Amino acid sequence: MTPYLIAIAVIAVVFVLPAWIGFLREEREARGELERAEAAGRREPVSIRPAVDTSRCMGSGACVTACPEHRVLQVLDGQATLVNASSCVGHGACVRACPTRALDLVFGSERRGVDLPELGTDFQSNVPGLYVVGELGGMGLIANAVQQGVQAAGQLMKREWTVPEGGVDLVVVGAGPSGIACALEARSKGLRVELLEQGTFGGAIRHYPRAKIVMSRGFQLPGQKRVGGGSLSKERLIEILSAAIADAGLKVAEGERVEAVARQDDGSFEVRTTKRTLGAGRVVLAVGRRGTPRRLEVAGEESQKVAYRLLEPERYEHRHVLVVGGGDSAVEAALALSEQRGCRVTLSYRKAQITRPKQANVDRLDAAVAAGRVQLELQSTVLEIAADRVRLNTEAGERVVPNDHVLVLAGGVLPMAFLHATGIRLKRHFGRRVEDVA
Ligand SMILES: Cc1cc2nc3c(=O)[nH]c(=O)nc-3n(C[C@H](O)[C@H](O)[C@H](O)COP(=O)(O)OP(=O)(O)OC[C@H]3O[C@@H](n4cnc5c(N)ncnc54)[C@H](O)[C@@H]3O)c2cc1C
Ligand code: SF4
Repeated sequence: MTPYLIAIAVIAVVFVLPAWIGFLREEREARGELERAEAAGRREPVSIRPAVDTSRCMGSGACVTACPEHRVLQVLDGQATLVNASSCVGHGACVRACPTRALDLVFGSERRGVDLPELGTDFQSNVPGLYVVGELGGMGLIANAVQQGVQAAGQLMKREWTVPEGGVDLVVVGAGPSGIACALEARSKGLRVELLEQGTFGGAIRHYPRAKIVMSRGFQLPGQKRVGGGSLSKERLIEILSAAIADAGLKVAEGERVEAVARQDDGSFEVRTTKRTLGAGRVVLAVGRRGTPRRLEVAGEESQKVAYRLLEPERYEHRHVLVVGGGDSAVEAALALSEQRGCRVTLSYRKAQITRPKQANVDRLDAAVAAGRVQLELQSTVLEIAADRVRLNTEAGERVVPNDHVLVLAGGVLPMAFLHATGIRLKRHFGRRVEDVA
């Protein structure tokens, strides 16, 4: 063999072979992830998702590397492929990273239409005086939500309105980033504002897994310093929102869910909440897309020991906790609780298998169950919640489990029926195809 051929053979063994093996391993992993996502129903988007123009994509994988979420995209057969579509929150990092401009962001898919309100560029819906901002309008991300909240407040000031007797200029429904930004901006312009929140201020941010690093674009809340892009913990973000609310002297009416918004003959609005009826000149809906937490509708659910999210796992040391649900939130909560000293966790799920969460969460749950840290009750439903126990209906018959707390993490009821009732027109988005909603 000539030295030339030897050199080629060495290069092949040292460089090409490992690269080829690596490529095959990645391809195998990507295919496995695709199968798991398919089985778990994660291939359909919640709202926004990247669409790949296959005639332009050359499989560089830049989008896969750029996306900060869990394996939304993978390269398969030399092309970017949407795998865990439901994990996409619309950073758009993939679109910016693609060297051939093969990606853009769309709503919904051919199989799953996503309903979005029809809005003007001023965020006003077809109901005059009724505005929609933030994720409910389709665009995710904290920075977008804040920007839209501020812009909508500016836009609505351009038209006149009538304030009903005893009412306020503006009711903002939902105290997530968009609602808070909107209320702050309107207040800074001298408007009388009511900010109503069914839970606690903070919106979707409160539901991130604890201390999740938020890869946010920079944003600026009215009257506050600019917050730079990059990494930020969830706790820090809540502190920033809290300080902005306190500095402006803004009150958030927490624990008050808005149940109906009706336009009156004089163009003002009647807003009915779980606690009162309010008059308003203008209404901004900033209710996000997570909806209202789904309830179990069983005896004892009104008890103080029932909660719909996990905030501080440390509070549950030496407690018996029942977690209900089978998605990422429920599994992550069960795992976080299982790490607390003396905490006895039971996870109840109505189906025969847990497939919906990310694979990493499923693997961690399997390990926790095998180690006896989580008691898994599949094909079970809650029958009754009592002071010191819960009754479950299981395949093996009725079971009574000692209990101090119940966490219901079974998803949310989407706000579309609520929107429909306000008279707002919706459009159904199937990726690039859009239809009217009857
Ligand atoms: C797991 C996860 C990870 C994410 N990661 C990132 C990230 O890294 N970076 C980023 O920028 N964005 C991220 N996002 C997206 C971002 O959090 C949202 O886009 C943003 O919070 C939307 O703000 P919003 O104000 O429109 O709605 P939300 O934050 O959803 O707030 C809506 C508020 O309205 C309230 N509400 C709903 N209905 C009613 C009613 N009828 N009456 C009264 N109140 C009501 C809700 O309780 C809620 O507090 C993530 C989202 C999730 C779920
Ligand atoms: S839009 Fe964001 S979350 Fe969605 S795939 Fe692109 S980078 Fe990932």
